[in-house]
Amino acid sequence: MYTMRITGGSVYLNGQTVEADVLIKGEKIAAIAHGDHGIEAKETIDATGLLVLPGMIDTHCHTRDPGYTHKEDFYTASCAAAVGGVTTIIDMPNVEPPTTNVDLFEIKRADAGSKSIVDFGHWVAATELDQIPRLAAAGATGFKIFQVKGVYPHDPRLAISEDGDMLRAFRAIEETGRTCIVHPFSQSLFDELSDEARKSDEAMNWRAFSRIYTIEQVWYSAVGRLLALQELSRVRLHLAHTHASRSIQMIRQAKMDHLSVTAEIDPKYYSLTMADLERLHGFVCPAGFIHEDEARMKAIYAGLTDGTIDNIGSDHAPHTRDEIAVQEHDAWVACAGSPQLDWIYSLLLNDVALGKIPLKRVVEMLCESPAKIADIWPHKGQIAPGSDADLVLVDMNRKEKITEESLQTKVGWSPYEGRTVQGIVTTTIRRGEVIARERQILAKRGSGKYISGGN
Ligand SMILES: [Zn+2]
Repeated sequence: MYTMRITGGSVYLNGQTVEADVLIKGEKIAAIAHGDHGIEAKETIDATGLLVLPGMIDTHCHTRDPGYTHKEDFYTASCAAAVGGVTTIIDMPNVEPPTTNVDLFEIKRADAGSKSIVDFGHWVAATELDQIPRLAAAGATGFKIFQVKGVYPHDPRLAISEDGDMLRAFRAIEETGRTCIVHPFSQSLFDELSDEARKSDEAMNWRAFSRIYTIEQVWYSAVGRLLALQELSRVRLHLAHTHASRSIQMIRQAKMDHLSVTAEIDPKYYSLTMADLERLHGFVCPAGFIHEDEARMKAIYAGLTDGTIDNIGSDHAPHTRDEIAVQEHDAWVACAGSPQLDWIYSLLLNDVALGKIPLKRVVEMLCESPAKIADIWPHKGQIAPGSDADLVLVDMNRKEKITEESLQTKVGWSPYEGRTVQGIVTTTIRRGEVIARERQILAKRGSGKYISGGN
């Protein structure tokens, strides 16, 4: 007897949607059935008119826990994930204390396990070379290195700026076999361009910060150096925030040369507009300027479509309204970043509804590629017998307006507030359990579990 039967929906199987039933036993998908043959299940979910897709695996999430739980904690981040159609989150080490060693990793893992309602993993810091093999052995998903440094959340303690230091870290990580995510950034170029702006009459607010922070050269100059260090070390390099057109070109070439390089983009960079920035100020920073650049937007959509960009990371990065307000006076001493998880799947499905990206690419970018990057494929990231029953039910014909009332994130605001999206996640199922329905949380705190990297 099956524990759950999802019937009547169009199920995403091997790159296409097929009329089928998904049969679940406990936490796993047991079978895909075509036609009714007296199937018995404890619970039946009618998915008539709906798509049945794999749950998203978000490889770029800032839960703010421990240390900054006035912004978010593992419970609230996981609730935002659940309503957004995300069944696994892998969070970042820029917390307090930063996740730099095994002891801190274990404390964080235990604490997150008592709170999260979605499954989770942890990217850890690579700043202590002797800890790198130990963290991998303890089950860390992989490593995150920041080239950017400034005020929180760009914690200078987690930054590696020099090529030699980066190469040493890459070599140590390569030996573990795990992925290394890097936030590519030429900090000195950014600092120089910021000084130039400061000396001119430009107001140093959210507008100036967004402009300078997203200048192409600040990003692709770093990507060029990182690709060189990847060639020397052979580390599994995963580049975050891939929104510079020349970065996309270089990564496309690196893939043709069979380098172990993958790339991620967060939707804020290409889906938030200048009008959004002018309307919502710091809540949209550092987005806006990229959307104005037609050639860059074309390059981004080409990368999303042809697979140069492997996955979508939400970069869920909540800050309080007061923290964001500091950007009005000096954005260089303020927090920048925005909550993203609550509506992340719908943001991508809206592009499917508009004909901008095929559904197949969306499932690859939200589910399949991130599972591979985080070494949790094929347990997660696909609908197939034997895989975890992590699913979302989606109404592609339904439209909804993003409102503050719809959010689970602790900070209670969204840079997409007021926008209408098409393609709505109605139900989220994690390991065979309905954890959210119609934006209501149904799961017990602490029901998510740690998913180890490398197995
Ligand atoms: Zn981030």
